[in-house]
Amino acid sequence: MPLGVRQPWNAVDFAELARLFPPPPEYFERAWFADPEEIDRVKLSRLRDRADRAYRVPFFRRLWDAHGFDPRDLRTLDDLERVPTYTVDDIRRSVEEHPPYGDYQGVSPEDAVREPLRLHMSGGTTGEPRPTLYTQWDRGVSGVLNTRAMYLQGLRSGDVVINSWSYGLHNGAFSFDEALQRWLNCIVITASTGNVTSVRKQVDLARRFQAAAILTTGDYLLRIVEEARAMGLDPRRDLPIRSLATNVGNGELLEEIFGIPAYATYGFHEVGTVAVECPAKQGLHIFEDAFDVSVVDVDTGQPLPIGEVGALVVTEFYKTGSPQFRYNIMDLSMLYPREQCACGSWLRRMGKFAGRGDTMVKLRGVNVWPEAIGTIATAVEGTEPDYFVRAVTVDGQDALVVSVVAAGDPRRQDALREAIERRLTDQLGVRIGVEVVDPGSLDHLTGQTTAKARRFRDERTGVEPR
Ligand SMILES: [Zn+2]
Repeated sequence: MPLGVRQPWNAVDFAELARLFPPPPEYFERAWFADPEEIDRVKLSRLRDRADRAYRVPFFRRLWDAHGFDPRDLRTLDDLERVPTYTVDDIRRSVEEHPPYGDYQGVSPEDAVREPLRLHMSGGTTGEPRPTLYTQWDRGVSGVLNTRAMYLQGLRSGDVVINSWSYGLHNGAFSFDEALQRWLNCIVITASTGNVTSVRKQVDLARRFQAAAILTTGDYLLRIVEEARAMGLDPRRDLPIRSLATNVGNGELLEEIFGIPAYATYGFHEVGTVAVECPAKQGLHIFEDAFDVSVVDVDTGQPLPIGEVGALVVTEFYKTGSPQFRYNIMDLSMLYPREQCACGSWLRRMGKFAGRGDTMVKLRGVNVWPEAIGTIATAVEGTEPDYFVRAVTVDGQDALVVSVVAAGDPRRQDALREAIERRLTDQLGVRIGVEVVDPGSLDHLTGQTTAKARRFRDERTGVEPR
């Protein structure tokens, strides 16, 4: 071993980490109920510290210099609006110009001598994968943030949890795995997706080890439920699921099947879990000791008033590896005003994930999002919660077509198509083409056999596929 290599316990003061970012259950005893002044005071001091650090990273120095922003100008929380934002396109360019890591990392592989590092990738379906280097400290804090959400979602130490997220290049499965083992003392079964461990095997494992949760998308958990029923099992009796942690989408249906509440979360792979829904179910509380979330107009990037839906701009203030400071993630949502929630917390709330800003299609002057179409279409009675939207060109004009899976009698599909068309026109103000299809026929498009479903494809002529 080279001289001077620091082991995890020497590289990171874990007691200090837990003091600054309390894990559950302590977090829900005090920090959860912090008053607005304390929240803002902690936030401002951490933000200023992180701005200084980000400015030492070439990517941020270049961006901020070009916009005339000096981190010393960050004196109040309102000043944050003046910090320029960036999108995934800027990250892509950074990777292209400074391969293979880009110039947005705050550490490099040589730094692994003073602190163990990890590398995970995002994207990569088109273009180069976007790497992120994580320090031991980053893994620790994001583990704490993940377990805060999972604790609220009902997981407790000693619970056996099946992790059906994909153990691949992405951070997701690994970050949940580490969080559960190190910060919540749960026992993780590393199933990965159906390609690695068949759905039937997952049902077997859940039953045999009495798993308290199966971590995967809501859609995929429903697939597991279907399989359990096909095996002659009663999901609620034979699979004693006590937590719907990480099961995004289809919350109400899962609540009904398992008889437990589903609380939504919001997060992404570079920063971990940002916010979690509380039992009051009026928005997701942002972990404001680690994040600022603001909302900007999708087209102009200008700040939007509280309550308006736009693109989320996220700043984390905990990472020592690769900072994310005013990242316009192009996920759509909104913010609630600062007020005390019925649960007693003053932590600011945001809406649920409402779709992607970069899949927006302008139809005759109206902004339309595929996820919004899916939500409206699958709310019509007689549909399954499964759909796929395509943007196409018809007579030189942009058009959208949604394929929706029918739940019942194939003979009623014409009536169903008309009902969905009418509902979409009423609610969106533009006409969307509708196609009603049989169960399973969208799987090759949505990738339902992997854990994360795709819902949109741009097939317009002259437009590059995303
Ligand atoms: Zn609340």
